[in-house]
Amino acid sequence: MPNCWAQIPSASVETDVVSMDKIVSLAKRRGFVFPSSEIYGGLGSSYDYGHYGVLLKNNVKGQWWRAMLQERDDIVALDSAIIQHPETWRASGHLAGFTDPLVDCRTCKLRFRADKLDEAQCGRKPSKHPGETPDCDLTEARDFNLMFETTVGPVKEEGSTVYLRPETAQGIFLNFKNYLQFSRKRPPFGIAQIGKSFRNEITTGNFIFRTREFEQMEMEFFVPPPEAGRWFEHWLEQRMSWWTRLGIRPDHVRLRPHDTEELSHYSSATSDIEYLFPIGWSELEGIANRGDFDLRQHAEYSGQKLEYVDTVSGDRYVPHVIEPAAGADRAMLAFMVDAYDEDEIEGETRTVLRLHPLLAPVKVAVLPLVRKDGQPELAAEIYRDLRERVQTEYDEGGAIGRRYRRQDEIGTPWAVTIDHQSLEDRTVTLRDRDSLAQDRVPIGELGEEIERRLRAAWQSPKLQG
Ligand code: ATP
Repeated sequence: MPNCWAQIPSASVETDVVSMDKIVSLAKRRGFVFPSSEIYGGLGSSYDYGHYGVLLKNNVKGQWWRAMLQERDDIVALDSAIIQHPETWRASGHLAGFTDPLVDCRTCKLRFRADKLDEAQCGRKPSKHPGETPDCDLTEARDFNLMFETTVGPVKEEGSTVYLRPETAQGIFLNFKNYLQFSRKRPPFGIAQIGKSFRNEITTGNFIFRTREFEQMEMEFFVPPPEAGRWFEHWLEQRMSWWTRLGIRPDHVRLRPHDTEELSHYSSATSDIEYLFPIGWSELEGIANRGDFDLRQHAEYSGQKLEYVDTVSGDRYVPHVIEPAAGADRAMLAFMVDAYDEDEIEGETRTVLRLHPLLAPVKVAVLPLVRKDGQPELAAEIYRDLRERVQTEYDEGGAIGRRYRRQDEIGTPWAVTIDHQSLEDRTVTLRDRDSLAQDRVPIGELGEEIERRLRAAWQSPKLQG
């Protein structure tokens, strides 16, 4: 583990005001995330993303694509099918081994993950864990496959069973050959993909942290075998710095190398990037050195040659693979948790999401002070200009303080206020969500000023607090 990420003790860890309940309630109140199918009483651990949730998650994914595609020239993109040939899952080992140990309680009839009993609550005494009371009567653990099964075609017959992918990675291995041919890449190079994955998790919960349907951001980096160790270190460093560059406080994120018992059978090294959620340190992203396991398995099951042949030297080899695999929903949750803050303005408590401006769903709000005297017309003109550049919102209803509070809660970094002076000298105030500074800016310079601020280096104001 690189030294610079050794955990730094900090006061902010102890004094953070955030809790999971506060995030869930803000997410619902402000239209980030709703429990799914609510009119039918809800479907456990299934969520719908509302307007601001879509914008925020899109920004998270956008920054991931940016780091993978735009800032480098050795990675290409893919969007593969969710339903793939069922042999995929035989070759990958998921059919035989993608299981969690399941136990039933004969007394309360609930099911638990045998390896996570200390995180579960007993059905009769929620203050206890399963197995902790004399009434608990747990069965032996048995393996439960997490893949969702369905059928293709109108008739359920032999051979029609398929699976919803439990990870996006396999779609990348299935396309390895296509990419060697069309992309003119040679190892070391990567293929990146974002998409939905499905796991019939035994225990879900903690809001969008663990759900049965979620989005993954995965990249498989194919390297000459002798270089695998070096590239593994490279990706640990790259991915850690991605999280902190987007504002995650460095004392809330850490690398945890897997010990030997925890390693997957195919992996020679794996480290998890963990975030200090209100539920404790938990995985955000896994970075694994998968060796040549996947390509060899798919070569064997498909009968195809999945190897790189150097046209000049004639050398041929099966590349090794380094995989950074992150969850987009979990990432969004971490960014919201890390950003959540409360402070006091003029004796009133304010809730504010101190999101990195690049992640904020809305970058700027345009607010006429009053709904008369030509202010709404001038504000509308500014709004039309700004929305050409960045995600902008116009709001003219209600007291200005209330409108600021609303924007603070959705994490909008800047608000433009149009007042009587604006009509005289064509200047407006530009309010900063975090410092609350209000600068007078000429309307003609507003767009460029906002773009300049958006590009500026940023660190969480919670670090100073
Ligand atoms: P966990 O140990 O939390 O079950 P995992 O090690 O099985 O996760 P991976 O297979 O490495 O997860 O998947 C990569 C990433 O996908 C995880 O780091 C996480 O961010 C995300 N992820 C995995 N399962 C879920 C889920 N059920 N809900 C939301 N995100 C998930």
